[in-house]
Amino acid sequence: MNLITFEADDLIAPNTLVLRDRRLQHLLGVHKAQVGDSLKVGELGGLMGHGELIALTSDEATLRICLDTPPPAKRDVILVLALPRPKMLKRILQMVVTLGVSELVLINSYRVEKSFWQSPWLSEAAMAEQLRLGLEQAGDTVAPRVSLRPRFKPFVEDDLPALMQGRDGWVAHPVLRQAGATGQPGDITTAPTQRLAPSAAPTLLAIGPEGGFIAYEVEKLQAAGLQCCDLGPRILRVETAVAVALGQLLP
Ligand code: SAM
Repeated sequence: MNLITFEADDLIAPNTLVLRDRRLQHLLGVHKAQVGDSLKVGELGGLMGHGELIALTSDEATLRICLDTPPPAKRDVILVLALPRPKMLKRILQMVVTLGVSELVLINSYRVEKSFWQSPWLSEAAMAEQLRLGLEQAGDTVAPRVSLRPRFKPFVEDDLPALMQGRDGWVAHPVLRQAGATGQPGDITTAPTQRLAPSAAPTLLAIGPEGGFIAYEVEKLQAAGLQCCDLGPRILRVETAVAVALGQLLP
């Protein structure tokens, strides 16, 4: 935890923060905090700053806080992600926060298992918890917007055009190489494909499910203005593809 996040409920006076839950355990067990220590704190959705530890017992920590720093700016990147399996979703939620994504849209795709949409990890509270862990890791107080689009076609036809306004759009889709192909120019691909280049322009990036997008879905995404991009000759796990693609886009 690089930042202790709190909400208004954690304040017992305007500048006095009391921690009694996992944050206290973290202070005791990991930080080995002592009275007098200065720790980074941030109000969820608000400013960040420092808290001086003025009292500490095994039941509670009391900090006198001073908030004076805005959270880091988000990247203007919308990540459209085929809903991953729940275990991976937890990690990806934290990852998108640390990578500064401004908006995450979880969509359905032919190869997304239907049961994933029933996962308790998709509840607002469960996702908020993972996003908060990401904020504490990243040193940020503002979580990305997250929305669910359980029907692919209405999303692509009705919502995607508005999301794409004024943005570069990319769909990461592995190049299909012929047997014996070398990965060199001239190999046959499913669609014209480029490598991502660093860019600060507003961007929308789509990443497929474990089994990949089907051709129909790639065509629909292309029709909405997304271009295919290739992340290299190896097939990456979804979470690795998210990290690599967002890393390649970093200006
Ligand atoms: N067999 C699937 C296919 O050929 O599409 C592999 C899917 S991969 C595990 C999951 C997603 O990560 C893909 O849909 C794509 O968005 C992204 N991905 C993984 N490796 C990639 C690569 N080398 N180039 C482009 N996208 C990649």
